[in-house]
Amino acid sequence: MIKPDGVHRQLIGEIITRFEQRGLKIVASKFVHLSRERAEEHYQEHTQKDFFDDLVEFITSGPVMAMVLEGADATRQVRSMVGETDPAESAPGTIRGDFGLDLGRNVIHASDHEDPGANEQEIDLFFDSDELIEYDRIDSEWLYEWLRVCLI
Ligand code: GDP
Repeated sequence: MIKPDGVHRQLIGEIITRFEQRGLKIVASKFVHLSRERAEEHYQEHTQKDFFDDLVEFITSGPVMAMVLEGADATRQVRSMVGETDPAESAPGTIRGDFGLDLGRNVIHASDHEDPGANEQEIDLFFDSDELIEYDRIDSEWLYEWLRVCLI
């Protein structure tokens, strides 16, 4: 999910291009202004943190671009492209390392690959099942060794 700072800074295209070029497949996307209720549910693990109110205030302050990306081990691959939570700790080349300076303005959210089921939960929070589109990328056989082996 590209956060309101990423949207206002016109980084949507740049960020989506990175995911497309990596080989990830966009299977759903939605430009949405989150309600306070949905934002609180999304960040419920942080309810007790002192930054919770600021976080909810920020994420509901403008539109976000939510999307579902599919690919081999997609959650882990996306997290590695996103970088660390704090942009200051994020390597150049990562999204937060290239576009962020501040922990509270770190441009993008991505599901936690170390929390099994988090990605499914977040997809359910943002999308109905009929909003996930099934299709094949035309370059799939060039992205996956196993697929090319099957086709030969
Ligand atoms: P993420 O999965 O890397 O986004 O990190 P978390 O789930 O731990 O935190 C959610 C979001 O809360 C982060 O992306 C930050 O924008 C924000 N956040 C986390 N820790 C802090 C903090 O200590 N202070 C502030 N102001 N924001 C924080």
